[in-house]
Amino acid sequence: MERKRRVRFAPSPTGPLHMGGVRTALYNYLYARQAGGDFVLRIEDTDSQRFVPGAEEYIIEALRWCGIYPDEGVDENGKVVETPSEKHPHAPYRQSQRRGIYRQYAEQLVKAGYAYYAFDTPEELAALRAEAESRKETFIYNWKTRGNMRNSLTLPEDEVARLVAEDTGWTIRFKIPENRTVVMEDLIRGHIEVNSNTLDDKVLWKRVDELPTYHLANIVDDHLMEITEVIRGEEWLPSLPLHYLLYEAFGWTDTQPRFAHLSLLLKPDGKGKLSKRDGDRLGFPVFPLKWVNAEGEVSRGYREDGYYPEAFINMLALLGWNPGNDRELFTVEELVPVFNLDRVIKSGARFNADKAKWFNQEYLRMRPLPQLVEDFKACAGEKLKGCDDGYISAVVELMRERAHFVTEMWNLTSFFFEAPESYDEASVVKFWNEDAKAAMPQVRSLLADLASFDKETIENSLHELITSNQWPMGKVMNSLRLFLVGVSKGPGVADMMALFGKDETLRRIDSAVSKLS
Ligand code: GLU
Repeated sequence: MERKRRVRFAPSPTGPLHMGGVRTALYNYLYARQAGGDFVLRIEDTDSQRFVPGAEEYIIEALRWCGIYPDEGVDENGKVVETPSEKHPHAPYRQSQRRGIYRQYAEQLVKAGYAYYAFDTPEELAALRAEAESRKETFIYNWKTRGNMRNSLTLPEDEVARLVAEDTGWTIRFKIPENRTVVMEDLIRGHIEVNSNTLDDKVLWKRVDELPTYHLANIVDDHLMEITEVIRGEEWLPSLPLHYLLYEAFGWTDTQPRFAHLSLLLKPDGKGKLSKRDGDRLGFPVFPLKWVNAEGEVSRGYREDGYYPEAFINMLALLGWNPGNDRELFTVEELVPVFNLDRVIKSGARFNADKAKWFNQEYLRMRPLPQLVEDFKACAGEKLKGCDDGYISAVVELMRERAHFVTEMWNLTSFFFEAPESYDEASVVKFWNEDAKAAMPQVRSLLADLASFDKETIENSLHELITSNQWPMGKVMNSLRLFLVGVSKGPGVADMMALFGKDETLRRIDSAVSKLS
């Protein structure tokens, strides 16, 4: 019988989640939804030295902002589940709280001859490393060196038993088999072979803190949690041979998950991994949400920069995957049926900041007007206090095409809510010349006499007056624009006048004429 598809996202809370991590979570989520399976969140926090307070909360909040809700591992309030229930049978989902289960698995491997106790102290290992370095070599604990080390392969049995009982610094290391070709399949990269002699005897479990390392905890938990596909970043590909060997040593190959390693997100120039520094340098976020580290250093976030989560997710989906045609706009619901690991690219995906903005603009354009108005009001806050809703809505409708982000909209529209106090000097010199000055009294009285103040009437009557007097159209119209807005760019003059209404239009003209004469 086909097993229910179960995938997981297994971040380590060592800092804010990079956008590449969000993409990994997204691909897992889409895979699970399409297969009608489960998407599990597991927190891999067994490396206490790299633990960063707040990172776990950040990761969950970021996923929720993106609309990625795990089926298992996190409750409705966004808390990692600690006690088993029908919905969360494998709790706790934080590895530090599962610490009791891993030792037996490591010892099972020792008993079966796949792993061994190692008693070398950190000082001894450091000395060996330093000594190798002085010969311009690297010390590796492996098939070549393990025979000369202090471990259960070299020491007498009673000595091993004594040390295991009395010592507290030992570890359990995996005994990589000698000269074997490890044959692997990756759903994205295909067939891979590695000779086991290139691998080292990784530590699986440490007596000192009674904690497993990533490799052991990851394999044991994927097994216990019945994970069927592991979709993760390419940085874990070098660990794949060890993971294959671990499944084999445990006798779990029948239910071993299939693996898919996603390529890296690359810098805009394609040279190397996309980093926070690139974002700072080129002015875009690499994290979903803003993050402030212990030193008070701030990293910007897509959310705080004004991105819609829908746009962010859409962009991420297409960074490394394509639908096989030109289509670019997809909601998550639309991605679910078409997402496919076969179309995930093997090479790195180059990040393009302009494209990210383009996605957001597209979502801003598609946003229903009432919602966009609400977004704008939330951004502008106090500044819109007392303004008429109909007026705000008309302004947003007129100006939405010009914005990439709702956070830009106040700057684009502020003149609708506040009359200009000053006028751009260069434009004044350019447009407010003798001809414009001569024409303005008649222009004003024409506007004052208009019975109806809609865009067409304004436009037609201004046009007629200016052409019949043979005034220079550009000078007059741009002077008017300057009076209304303070600068010589913006939407159409008649559009703005109609929105302002007659009184405000005349007020702005009068105020400008008096200030500029
Ligand atoms: N804890 C690992 C990480 O932080 C998970 C790797 C995996 O998915 O196996 O990326």
